[in-house]
Amino acid sequence: MKLLEDRIVKDGKVLPGNVLKVDGFLNHRIDVNLLNDIGKEFARLYANQGVNKILTIEASGIGIACIAAQHFGCPVVFAKKSKTTNISSDFYCVDVESYTHKTTNKVIVSKEYLDENDRVLVIDDFLANGCALRGLCKLIKDAGATLVGCGIAIEKGFQPGGKAVRDLGIRVESLAVIKSMNSDDGTIVFG
Ligand code: 5GP
Repeated sequence: MKLLEDRIVKDGKVLPGNVLKVDGFLNHRIDVNLLNDIGKEFARLYANQGVNKILTIEASGIGIACIAAQHFGCPVVFAKKSKTTNISSDFYCVDVESYTHKTTNKVIVSKEYLDENDRVLVIDDFLANGCALRGLCKLIKDAGATLVGCGIAIEKGFQPGGKAVRDLGIRVESLAVIKSMNSDDGTIVFG
């Protein structure tokens, strides 16, 4: 998606440790018009697939997911990071390692909000090593729901997550795929 690539080049900052900072339009200040175009594109890519729920993960996926959901006419469920280790049987639960914080969180979804009648699109802002996406896909499987596919705003294609998830036979659509980026000179190459 050219619009997103151009915005990444204009406002993204490449940090050491293969982190792309997009606080100016996606992760801190949010450009709602851009998110609307992103949501529209996900709706085009996943049209006629019977998506009736969008699943994302707290916190940065929520904005994109909510605006996308308006184009699908469906609700959003976000997996919550749980501070307690005592998870009741009312929740589906999975461990997800955080790429940016290098910690492992238990993330949970209430059984009330995900079940076998759901056809789910997973949405997230970034795809790096794929821990978040694999965790969300497991929650969907545990709920007996149908995973339609994943919609990612920015995939770092030089990291292994995209291949790992696609190798599971899961459809992944990423609107901007970064082939390489360099924190020394700030260059970003798409591909
Ligand atoms: P993964 O689980 O695929 O390794 O990482 C995905 C999650 O880590 C995303 O939900 C996103 O919040 C965060 N993340 C991964 N890479 C980046 C990055 O380069 N920049 C930012 N801002 N977040 C990232």
